[in-house]
Formats: sequence, C-alpha cells, structure tokens
Amino acid sequence: MRFSAGGAAIVCLCCRNDTFDKDYRQLNSRGATFFGLDWANRNATILVCQRCTHISWFMSEPDRMKD
Ligand SMILES: [Zn+2]
Repeated sequence: MRFSAGGAAIVCLCCRNDTFDKDYRQLNSRGATFFGLDWANRNATILVCQRCTHISWFMSEPDRMKD
C-alpha cells in the first residue's frame, strides 16, 4: 500500500521504496505510567517498508493513496 502525509507521498528514507505495511504501536512504557505521564499513553501509526523493513513512525494516521 502507498500512503501520504501532509499531502506528500511517503517514500522510505532508506531505499526510496513507496509501498508499506501499516501497523500500530503503543508509545507508553511502564516508566511513563508509573510517573503518571498519561500523555505518553498514545498509539502511533507505523509504516513498515515492504522492501527493506525500515519503520517510519507517525503520530497521526497517514492517508492511504489510491493506486
Ligand atoms: Zn525501504
């Protein structure tokens, strides 16, 4: 799948590939929870490059581009 963020197509920083698998990761850690930093308990969107597996992180979900 191809994605865009901020109106620009997302390209892998490593290999310049433009197809990714989308997934989600929790940003919270045990330490952040222990100290009451609830703002740290957020989900990030990650895009995994289908060619080199480099991971790009996004705080807001990228838009899927039409093929
Ligand atoms: Zn790549």
